[in-house]
Amino acid sequence: MQRIVSKLFALGLFAVVNTAQALTIFTCEPEWASLSMELAPDAKVFSATHAYQDPHYIEARPSLISKLAKADIAICSGAGLESGWLPALQKRASNRDVIDGAKGMLYLSRFIETIEKHDTEFFSTEHVHPEGNPHFHLDPERVSKLARVISQRLQTIDPDSSQAYQQALEKWQANWQKSMQTWQQQAAELKGQPVVVQHTSFSYLINWSGMNAIADLEPEPGVPPTMTHAQSLVEETRSQQPIAILTNWYQNDRAAQWLSGKTDVKHLNLPATVDLKGEINTLQRLFDHLLSQLQAAR
Ligand SMILES: [Zn+2]
Repeated sequence: MQRIVSKLFALGLFAVVNTAQALTIFTCEPEWASLSMELAPDAKVFSATHAYQDPHYIEARPSLISKLAKADIAICSGAGLESGWLPALQKRASNRDVIDGAKGMLYLSRFIETIEKHDTEFFSTEHVHPEGNPHFHLDPERVSKLARVISQRLQTIDPDSSQAYQQALEKWQANWQKSMQTWQQQAAELKGQPVVVQHTSFSYLINWSGMNAIADLEPEPGVPPTMTHAQSLVEETRSQQPIAILTNWYQNDRAAQWLSGKTDVKHLNLPATVDLKGEINTLQRLFDHLLSQLQAAR
């Protein structure tokens, strides 16, 4: 009898040790979920938002609170992108591992330079990004740097699996650098091409490829398009002949469609991030898709 008990005990202990090995990763945006899945193949990864959802505004739902409560690490863009909802989640999840300042709370904006830093006093809205543009996952070079940052943090909080994370990172980097060569060729063809945008969602990609955003359907950063503002862009759009009017999957694209109809400039509705349940489920596929769509619009 005692032997059975001790055997069961040993089995139980084994099970506990086993479940403790895989990390639970909470991400604020799907791009970081996808990247985490590649850098930590054994981890349980969850994203608070998806590709059809505006990450600037979501509700701190109870299901999200319980996900954050169970997380070993939270990975978010930062730079104010989640300031409307993440603090409420952190407060209600009461998980010391993912509070600000903890090793398990990773704000990626702190490891890169953001672009488009605005003076808050200059704009009346709270929608603008005073800490710079937080949509930096659309610059392949910043992504490469951030993959290293994420991997290093995973190794810090889970040193036992350090080697596995390092190997996953090296494999990921090799693939990424290979794809970069193709993307650079595509970008070279897009260089100097004008586009009309709606919000600054694609700014990093536009900058990286050397395209030129000639107008924004948002009358002010973060303020949704209005008809009056769209009307004011007709003449400029006609004269500058941009290759496309860009919107993303989570935006209302009525103004873009209207401007496209008025000017005969193509309207392109593109994913602003990965779609974890669809075909464009990795950042690599996202860049492949975005650059080929833009190239085809020329
Ligand atoms: Zn934004």
